[in-house]
Amino acid sequence: MDNSNGKVIKRFDKRTVIITGGARGLGASMVRGFVTEGANVVIADVLEREGLALADELGDKVIFSLLDVTSEKDWTATIAAAENTFGSISVLVNNAAIVHFEPIAETEPVAWRKVIDINLTGTYLGIRAVVPSMRKAGSGSIVNISAAAGMTGMWGAGAYVASKWGGRGLTKTAALELGQDNIRVNSIHPGAVRTHMASGLDTSGIAAPEVKDLAIPRIAEPDEITRLALFVASDEASFSTGSEFVADGGYLLGPAPVFGRTTAGNGKAIKQ
Ligand code: NAD
Repeated sequence: MDNSNGKVIKRFDKRTVIITGGARGLGASMVRGFVTEGANVVIADVLEREGLALADELGDKVIFSLLDVTSEKDWTATIAAAENTFGSISVLVNNAAIVHFEPIAETEPVAWRKVIDINLTGTYLGIRAVVPSMRKAGSGSIVNISAAAGMTGMWGAGAYVASKWGGRGLTKTAALELGQDNIRVNSIHPGAVRTHMASGLDTSGIAAPEVKDLAIPRIAEPDEITRLALFVASDEASFSTGSEFVADGGYLLGPAPVFGRTTAGNGKAIKQ
């Protein structure tokens, strides 16, 4: 965007942004995206080596804070590091998560609790930790990365699905409670994205079984989700709160039926 002096104003100029799970995958893509838009970014992750390397690569506008999202002590330290280095916090992206693939009847309680603790309780702790800073600043934007799986069932991923539905509910309640503080809270629901988390999937391309029946028959690249996160976090989305933003290639639509289609999405004709 240009102001009257012809100077380019970026969407997050000098704003402080914390991204959990920012050391790799979608989180790292969002770190790069926010920096490009002028933000000062805190990479908050348990992956110290990767997080420090990314912060080092991106220069003065980025710091790394060792954060386990389940630790209240780590949250206090991360908020303090962000405020002391860059000033009050404008944006929190609750992105850190793990996945566990096992049918519910076979899932041990310890595995269940770990997923809920990181994906859902970690998001709650993040909201709780950041609100005082945002209230002080007079505004804020919280983006919770849920999943398409937060809007439907998924065979063999009960704990993950429950955590992502939970994040969606938490988003709506936080939005109700924080609107009067000028803090918006929204959730993003990606389909399969090419990251470490999706490495169990066949991400080789449009023929991969997990994506071949989608309306858009491929996996997403991380920057396709990052662009949505930048919009949702920014003032461009100023009237959206408690909302669900889906970017799933049509996953929630169900499989695109073969009848009526003339190509398989790879230019090859379908035999009818
Ligand atoms: P990823 O495994 O590459 O990255 C997850 C990041 O979270 C890692 O950097 C990891 O170290 C961090 N993390 C894990 N536990 C943590 C903890 N206790 N404290 C702090 N950080 C922790 O996965 P990704 O695909 O980049 O996932 C990012 C988000 O996108 C997640 O919320 C995930 O559920 C969501 N998502 C991913 C996909 C997909 O197909 N990749 C689909 C839908 C939603």
